[in-house]
Amino acid sequence: MSTKTCHFQAEVSQLLDIVVHSLYSRKEIFLRELISNASDAIDRAIYEGLTDKAIVADAPTWEIYLRVDKTARTLTIEDNGVGMDAATIESCLGTIARSGTKAFLEAAKAKTGSNAPETIGQFGVGFYAAFMVATNVTVNSLARGPNATAVRWCSAGDGDYTVSDGDRTTPGSAVTLQLREGMDEFLEEWQLRNLVKQHSDFISYPIRFVDAAKPPAVAPAPINTMRALWKRAKSEITPAEYNEFYQHLAHDRHDPLKVIHVAAEGAVEFRALLFLPSESTFDMMMPSSQRRKGLHLYVRNVFIGSDFEALLPEYLRFVRGVVESSDLPLNVSREMLQDDAVIRKIRSNLVGKVLATLAEMKKDDAPAFQKFFRAFGRILKEGIHFDHEHAAKLQDLLLFPSVRTENDGLLSLRQYRDAMPAKQKEIYYLVAENLATARQSPQLEAIQQHGCDVLFFVDPIDAWVAEDLTEFDGCKLRAIDQGDLELGTAEEQTVAKQQRDEADKSFRPVLDFIREKLSDELSAVRLSPRLTDSVCCLVAGQGRMSPSMERMMRAMNQDVPKELRILEVNPAHPLLARMQQMLDADRNDPKLADYVELLHGQALLAEGATPRDPRKFTKLVAALMA
Ligand code: ADP
Ligand code: MG
Repeated sequence: MSTKTCHFQAEVSQLLDIVVHSLYSRKEIFLRELISNASDAIDRAIYEGLTDKAIVADAPTWEIYLRVDKTARTLTIEDNGVGMDAATIESCLGTIARSGTKAFLEAAKAKTGSNAPETIGQFGVGFYAAFMVATNVTVNSLARGPNATAVRWCSAGDGDYTVSDGDRTTPGSAVTLQLREGMDEFLEEWQLRNLVKQHSDFISYPIRFVDAAKPPAVAPAPINTMRALWKRAKSEITPAEYNEFYQHLAHDRHDPLKVIHVAAEGAVEFRALLFLPSESTFDMMMPSSQRRKGLHLYVRNVFIGSDFEALLPEYLRFVRGVVESSDLPLNVSREMLQDDAVIRKIRSNLVGKVLATLAEMKKDDAPAFQKFFRAFGRILKEGIHFDHEHAAKLQDLLLFPSVRTENDGLLSLRQYRDAMPAKQKEIYYLVAENLATARQSPQLEAIQQHGCDVLFFVDPIDAWVAEDLTEFDGCKLRAIDQGDLELGTAEEQTVAKQQRDEADKSFRPVLDFIREKLSDELSAVRLSPRLTDSVCCLVAGQGRMSPSMERMMRAMNQDVPKELRILEVNPAHPLLARMQQMLDADRNDPKLADYVELLHGQALLAEGATPRDPRKFTKLVAALMA
């Protein structure tokens, strides 16, 4: 192969620039990242070697070397893991986080603006962190297995890289950094020992230090202790160690919000070290194939994989960590994991632990729980639909904004229930596209006058939550834009109904007229118990799909039949009397038909929808104004 020069994907060059110039304050993390990659490469070699003996034909002693050459000013991180062939090296090192790069850059821009580096740190810069300290990076690699050819990858981190034939003769990879001016500390043994101790002590393969200027030792003593954190007693682990391990594992620059360390004995023995992150990452809402796998499974010290779904359900996919069990066969495959009885026991135990931890956090540290819920609530809510076994526990964890919560405050169902006035019999909620639309809904008018609060279901997933969550603590949940709404005490209801029936007699002709004009949109037109100020609103019939649900389904490309709606009009509004007068004077007055159109358009606008004929609507409004 001749040397070939390739260009990084456009986004990669941008990202490299940010990495090199903005992450400077923590430049030493490059070492943790490269050691992590070396350790991952060995994990993969061991795992693949379980089924393919050719991979481990050389019966290797798994190890990682840090080599310094003070004369050449280079630092090399070398492993004898899986290695890379030319194709792998191009696909792995020519793109960052492969599918996620572009989405990441967009998210970083949108979210933090000038603060982008925070987000980048969170994302984990991985291999590219090397350019913070190096002017040039060379990777010499030989993939494991027969017929592999050595390959060399070189880049100055400025947008291009070269791939050429390599000369490595033993399987594995060596990443050599030509250090930048002023980075000589990374040639010092004491400094490298220090950094390994701090960031990589738990790496489970020996990390050995070699100085090219000194006579070679056969196998220098490891500089890490290799003690897997999850195997140690909780009492002897410091918060700093937990944090460091989490950052290594999750590629997150922040400390975790919560640590869950489990050592289960009995029918199934396993250990788990789980973390709740403090912030969401952009990939959480992506399809599972594009997500970083956050939960690693080890069987007898061998890394098996990051099979997330078998160990924890999808709705807990924000959980990061490690699970280790000796009760599983080493050759366990992903397919076997799905229906293995031991895995099922572990899974149900872990789900219980995570939910219990969240419940405890909600009780003892409400601000932390709110922070958690803002970041991951919409993922957790998926459980309401998919995990009926834990439905009750999940319900207790839900938080929603409401009419009464200010700004972005959140309320639990329990808090809502406890604050309900005695005469209120149901838990009221309104599904809407967003909080602003919800807060302005005319549907809230009379309810508020009755001293009741309304929960806002404004996450896309909430439409489904509403379907599954029909009752809480013996109290039905009730969409306020659906069916008849009975507010107040029994007497108040009777009085209100009498008044409406009375008014209905005088307004019936105009109500029927409206219905007739909008017969393909409406199933009925009636006087409203919901409104105090607004002139009209649309509601769904009892048991019919609520309007907001219908819109949500359409937005998600679901095929839903068009529901006829009920138009409710406010009898106290002068417009209704005016229209009745016009009708009495001249049934064929063209203005009357226009008013009907405007009325319907307003009702749609109020719920965040568009009038059925926006052009006609605006023309009519303009004509009225002129
Ligand atoms: P991540 O480790 O999060 O996947 P990195 O940027 O650190 O991202 O590495 C990118 C990819 O390059 C890795 O996923 C791996 O496939 C490959 N890689 C990096 N270093 C090595 C190595 N020492 N041996 C084999 N593959 C490696
Ligand atoms: Mg990495």
